[in-house]
This record gives sequence, C-alpha cells and structure tokens, in this order.
Amino acid sequence: TPLVHCENAARTYGRGTGAVVAVHGLNCVVPPGARIAVVGPSGSGKSTLLHLMAGLDSPTAGRVSHPGLGVGDAERLARHIGVVFQGPSLLPPLTAAENVALPLRIDGVPEDEADTRARVALARLGLEELGRRLPDELSAGQAQRVAVARVLARRPRLVLADEPTGQLDRETGRQVLSVLLGAASELSAAVLVTTHDPRVAREVGVRWYMADGRLIQPESDDGTGGPA
Ligand code: ADP
Ligand code: ADP
Repeated sequence: TPLVHCENAARTYGRGTGAVVAVHGLNCVVPPGARIAVVGPSGSGKSTLLHLMAGLDSPTAGRVSHPGLGVGDAERLARHIGVVFQGPSLLPPLTAAENVALPLRIDGVPEDEADTRARVALARLGLEELGRRLPDELSAGQAQRVAVARVLARRPRLVLADEPTGQLDRETGRQVLSVLLGAASELSAAVLVTTHDPRVAREVGVRWYMADGRLIQPESDDGTGGPA
C-alpha cells in the first residue's frame, strides 16, 4: 500500500488572469521504503509537490491521499511524515537537544523518553557532542543535521526533504544527505528529496523529473528503489 497516492492532482495559485498553475496532472505513488529524488529547475513545482504530499497544502484539483498511513487528519499525518526544509529553522533560544525533543514533547512523549530519543537521534547524525549548543553556535551543516535529527526522532514512515542541501557547500551537503539517507534506512522510512542538483539526485536513487509543473517518471520506474 503506497504511503502517498497522487491522482491527477493540481495546485493553482491565485485566480483569473493572474493564476499560476504550479503543478498539474500529478499521478504518482510513494511506496514504503522508497528513495526518490525529484529533480527539476527552480519554479518547476518541486516544492509544491512536496507540500501537497506532506499535507501542508491541498490540491485545487484531483486528489492526494495517504492510504499506507491509515490516517485522515493533518495532525496524525504529521506524526508519520517528517519534513526537512532548505534552512534548518531551529528555534534560536533552545539548545540542539531541546530542539529535537520539543516535537516529541508536543506529541505527548514523556520528558525522560523524549530526552533519550533526542540524544539517540543526535548521535545517529554524528552530533552527540553538540546537544547543548544553541543554533547560532552551530555551523550550517551541523544545524541542518540537527533539523534532520528532529525529524527522525519522531520515527516517521516518510521523510520529505525540500532542497535539504541547497544552502550547504558540496561536501557538507553530501555529508548531510548521506546521514539523512542512512538514518532513514535504519528506520525503514521512505525518503523523497527535491533537488536541482543531478549529483544529489544520483545519491538518492530513483529519479523523478519535474518540468513546468508536470511530473515525468522514467518508464518502469515505480519508486521501489530498483536499479536507478
Ligand atoms: P520549485 O520548488 O521547483 O522551485 P515551486 O513549487 O516553488 O517550484 O513553484 C512552482 C511555481 O508555482 C512557480 O511558478 C512559483 O512561482 C509558483 N508558486 C509557488 N508558490 C506560490 C505561491 N504561494 N503563490 C504564488 N505562486 C506560487
Ligand atoms: P523553492 O525554489 O525552493 O521552491 P522559492 O524561493 O521559490 O523556493 O519559494 C519559497 C517559498 O515561497 C515557497 O513556500 C513558495 O511556495 C513561495 N513562493 C514561491 N513562488 C512564489 C510566488 N510567485 N508568490 C508567492 N509565493 C511564492
């Protein structure tokens, strides 16, 4: 059962003559455990696709559903789908460990367990020494790894990452991507990464292409992680 199913989904911004069709005619499934890179130039609709899949936005036509997650409402969806944005968006007054633990606390995880899971998630991302640091005491790559740890600590079934290495230099970006993919695979979580960088896409696995709001999937490429 796919985690995400897009059926002829479209998203239009604005109305009338000024309307922008950000994406249209989207048909795709994300199977459990898939590793998918969505590749395309800026403005091709990658972020919009990701927002629709995350339930952060709704299609203006067609349907986006999550049959494999067995949940309807947005709040429960958020427990199973972790979203990583281009910038780390950590809360400045909280330490790295507190940033990772906060969503768990909001989920109702008891404080001790939340702290333990935060420590484990930071360690998995190679950040065990940095839990007490504030966001502005971290490098860009470290901060982005904390953001990845924050997502993975919730043990999502699907990680959606929107240009997660877009603000990092190539080497730091490679490291962040590699720990993201490794940690997701330990959790058996599916990963979908948007990128305009073909090198990043090759690291991820299966490649989907976006151009002018349309999704182009290579023939016989069902996202199950077969040879890319
Ligand atoms: P990408 O992530 O590939 O850069 P986006 O999904 O951000 O592409 O954007 C696709 C198109 O939709 C672009 O033309 C963009 O300007 C437009 N768009 C995206 N978000 C909005 C918005 N909130 N309001 C108006 N237009 C938008
Ligand atoms: P990306 O290319 O990574 O999508 P952008 O800088 O295009 O990043 O967009 C950043 C944010 O601004 C997104 O949330 C997107 O929905 C919104 N956005 C993009 N284009 C427009 C637009 N033309 N009008 C309003 N909001 C937009």
